Amino acid sequence: MKTCLAVAFVALIVAAAEWTVAAQNPQQAPQPLKTEKIKDDLYVITGDGGNTTAYVTDEGVILVDDKNDRNHDDLIAAVKSLSEIPVRYVINTHAHGDHTGGNQKLSGAVIVGQVNERADMIKGKLAGAPSVTYNDQMTIFLGGKEVDLRYFGRCHTDGDTFVYFPADKVIVTGDCFNTGNGRGLNPTGSTTPGFYADYTINGSVLSWPATVDAALRLDWDIVIPGHGPPSNRAAFLKWRRDVDAVIDRVRTMARAGKTKTDIEQVLVREFGWETTGMPIRSLDAVMVELK
Ligand SMILES: [Zn+2]
Repeated sequence: MKTCLAVAFVALIVAAAEWTVAAQNPQQAPQPLKTEKIKDDLYVITGDGGNTTAYVTDEGVILVDDKNDRNHDDLIAAVKSLSEIPVRYVINTHAHGDHTGGNQKLSGAVIVGQVNERADMIKGKLAGAPSVTYNDQMTIFLGGKEVDLRYFGRCHTDGDTFVYFPADKVIVTGDCFNTGNGRGLNPTGSTTPGFYADYTINGSVLSWPATVDAALRLDWDIVIPGHGPPSNRAAFLKWRRDVDAVIDRVRTMARAGKTKTDIEQVLVREFGWETTGMPIRSLDAVMVELK
């Protein structure tokens, strides 16, 4: 029983580590990666860490996020199977180590992030912080193709980049939209898995709706989340309504003086949240912000 509890506790720590700024667990073995074609020149690589998007051009590959450090060799093998031309740019959607852990070993590429994201990585003592930053918007042109980086405000952190591929009508959201938990899974079938603001780097549940509404004003059909399977605009709109429902419910209960336990039970029962997941474990901070 004691061993069982210890194992469960370690598993919890590992799961939690994927979602925080200092996330790295060198002991954990890398999970196998899987590549899925989204468009002729756009792929998503899943299986471990945050989702990686690979955009192939005649002059090199642009990656969005590069998983954990432990995934580096497998990630490079997956990208090489798409193109022999090297990775030229890596865009970080946010600072967490399961999205930026490959930065240091990809030093031949230009690492790009929002200005707050770079500061978050430095604050978290993470290696490979971006060498190029932007404030609100920047565009990368490579091999006759265009990639737009947009900062719409706080959501999962204070430095989340949305990456837009106008020719393919695809958007990549980082962890401002997830269809799975930190492991990319959705064991409870929740419509809002991974709705988690990291308050240690100024994430904000309150700002979240306005931030994602700005992303909705762009013209896209397919959305690649930070974790979990790719999705579409209709599912994103459904998720967006459920985000409002979660916020309204938590705010109403917090203002009525309900306890954290009361609110936890509602989130588990009505919204299918995992009892040990990071979203529910950040509830203290969420209640303070929404009250
Ligand atoms: Zn994250």
